[in-house]
Amino acid sequence: VELPIHEAVLGHAADFGDAPALIDGTDGTTLTYEQVDRFHRRVAAALDEAGVRKGDVLALHSPNTVVFPVAFYAATRAGASVTTVHPLATPAEFAKQLTDSQARWIVTVSPLLEVARRAAELAGGIREILVCDSAPGHRSLNDMPACTAADPQVGIDPATDTAALPYSSGTTGVPKGVMLTHRQIATNLAQLDPVITTGPGDRILAVLPFFHIYGLTALMNAPLRKGATVVVLPRFDLETFLAAIQNHRITGLYVAPPIVLALAKHPAVAHYDLSSLKYVISAAAPLDAALAAACAERLGLPPIGQAYGMTELSPGTHVVPLDALHEAPAGTVGRLIAGTEMRIVSLDDPGKDLGVGEAGEILIRGPQVMKGYLGRPDATAAMIDTDGWLHTGDVGRVDADGWLFVVDRVKELIKYKGFQVAPAELEAQLLTHPGIADAAVIGAHDEDGNEIPHAFVVRQPTADGLNENEVMLYVAERVAPYKRVRRVTFIDSVPRAVSGKILRRQLREHA
Ligand code: ATP
Ligand code: MG
Repeated sequence: VELPIHEAVLGHAADFGDAPALIDGTDGTTLTYEQVDRFHRRVAAALDEAGVRKGDVLALHSPNTVVFPVAFYAATRAGASVTTVHPLATPAEFAKQLTDSQARWIVTVSPLLEVARRAAELAGGIREILVCDSAPGHRSLNDMPACTAADPQVGIDPATDTAALPYSSGTTGVPKGVMLTHRQIATNLAQLDPVITTGPGDRILAVLPFFHIYGLTALMNAPLRKGATVVVLPRFDLETFLAAIQNHRITGLYVAPPIVLALAKHPAVAHYDLSSLKYVISAAAPLDAALAAACAERLGLPPIGQAYGMTELSPGTHVVPLDALHEAPAGTVGRLIAGTEMRIVSLDDPGKDLGVGEAGEILIRGPQVMKGYLGRPDATAAMIDTDGWLHTGDVGRVDADGWLFVVDRVKELIKYKGFQVAPAELEAQLLTHPGIADAAVIGAHDEDGNEIPHAFVVRQPTADGLNENEVMLYVAERVAPYKRVRRVTFIDSVPRAVSGKILRRQLREHA
């Protein structure tokens, strides 16, 4: 039988009973599996009583807390489609998502209540704002009388009903609402199971946000489905993060490249006992192989594994299996997971399939491909062709053993006099310079209108003498002439999304 997502994840919760499911990494508040199971049913009944009906969109607006998963599974159990919201969204940004998703309910936390109220006012159409902690004078899901009612009977169809409505990161354009059914999310979990093995005794640190599809899968659905313990942090702060690894004896980390960078380079890392760690997985943005190696060596870990995916793919298609970390070639994002097909097609001639080692656009077909973008049939049709292939917009190549390497996004490739230059490759080169703390590259235009690589560089505090020419020379010595960086701007920090993606649009505005 096919299960809705809350059953697929929490169906075994009773077996794990008193084992800790979620621990607040800052104050130690713990929810056992039995509690998560009981609480989410109770909250589902409370939502049902409040009037939530099947198909209603519910906006979950919260940083990572131990209650976040409870609220999420409660909402899906009550029949809602959950649209997760960035906890730092402004009222205007939040309102945009509410309007676009036609949300009827908001579940927030008391410190964010005012933002949620203003967003609801701007958007209209919200029936009620509920909080999932205690807010004086406000209706809280926690304070509702223990519901004796049975589980809401909502008749979910896992194959067609939307469970989650995350928004894509908006790295390349406006964030789009991605409709993911119960089946798509649950199937992807099952596909990842054999390669991302986890279970009781594993302690996973949830520092990336649950609201983003990567956190929702790797840090919430997958570990909770298997009886692991999730230690929750509300935001990334390096010292708090390191202390949490040490104090909670964390075994597995799922991170994005900026955290790998910090682990490889930051002096504070040496002051903590990180010996409990068994593996680190990175995803969401290109990770440089040299940086990954430096990080693994410093921490005394097996090579860092990568995974690849996107919101539209529920989200995973490739991962380096945990039992193949040593065997995987440096820089790969992994091997195709079971039940999924991939093609690499020519960028110039999109009908043409490419062979081993040739770089082209990555196309994916499989049960985890999204239902579509909410309210954007044109965008959906542009993304998924009539044969069911999803066009990722990413450039990649596969080696003879089936390992995928992601080059960069099609849209980010810089065309220098007819040659293609991948910003990610130049960023990786720049990061190997000891005086460079961080770097980002975009395509800019020179006086003659040619597209050229333009690097934005953050100097190490110890390297304030580093100048533009030194940076350009350093890269020129290491890459083919057409890939040279031709303009350098020093900046204080590289603008990034929480998922670690470089916000190149913001850099373009300063170019
Ligand atoms: P939008 O689609 O709104 O512009 P986005 O594509 O950044 O935003 P996500 O769905 O969060 O939104 O990110 C998916 C993208 O992240 C992929 O298409 C790919 O470009 C990038 N990505 C994910 N994993 C990796 C990885 N391991 N290496 C390189 N890039 C990755
Ligand atoms: Mg995208």
